[in-house]
Amino acid sequence: MIVSSQGIILKIFPYSNTSIICNVFTQDRGKLTFIAKGIRKPKNPSLSILQPFNLLEFNYYYKKNRSMHLIKEADILFSFSHLRKDFSTILIGSTILNIINRLFEEEYPQEIIFRLTYKVLNQLSGDKEQSKILFIFFLFHLSKQLGFMPNIDRCNSCNSIFKHDAIFSLRSNSLLCSNCSINNSLDTDFVLTYESLKNCLLINTTHINSIEDIKMSFHNCQELYNFLISFMNSNINNMHKIKGIKEITKIYHEE
Ligand SMILES: [Zn+2]
Repeated sequence: MIVSSQGIILKIFPYSNTSIICNVFTQDRGKLTFIAKGIRKPKNPSLSILQPFNLLEFNYYYKKNRSMHLIKEADILFSFSHLRKDFSTILIGSTILNIINRLFEEEYPQEIIFRLTYKVLNQLSGDKEQSKILFIFFLFHLSKQLGFMPNIDRCNSCNSIFKHDAIFSLRSNSLLCSNCSINNSLDTDFVLTYESLKNCLLINTTHINSIEDIKMSFHNCQELYNFLISFMNSNINNMHKIKGIKEITKIYHEE
């Protein structure tokens, strides 16, 4: 059956002498693996469009439960070329692709996460501060869509609404008020200031098109990033193995 889907290329690798295999995040079927046969022959124009970040319209021979689907033809819809202009933007953009590629099984439709990924990649620009906030936005909403997000407005133990700093407790895998964390603390716990919590609530409620309205200090960005990464590491398999996270951590820690 010939099917068409829009999809963002996550990763490509050569196969045999002339073919390419690519992992693609499609809008309607989640992650799929495609093979483009004969594409590495000289002067084949399709080779240049089969690159990571490109959003393509694929026509392909779909077979259920096959590990790979053969591409019939592909047209470029959008190239995200703005991403390639700045080092931190490339790093954040390619780490987003790595996260999607690593976290998702094949053929598990993720339309909301597809839209999130597309919009975040689209908004990444050469502005480093904006890129840092966008990556936090991506991590937060990805976790939320996957069903992993702790209460950010109230203590997980006594249920009181946060009015002061909160503590991220690895043992309870949640945010606690200072009273509840006293008898339950570990070295790995860390403080999330009240200001960072308020920024986190903003990230939760702000539409991505209005993200420039969110201004965050260096320290708030760093705290929220540390919180989201620790939280995701303890909730999502393979999260700690994702390429690029270590380098991005440096961006949040270097002024
Ligand atoms: Zn409490």
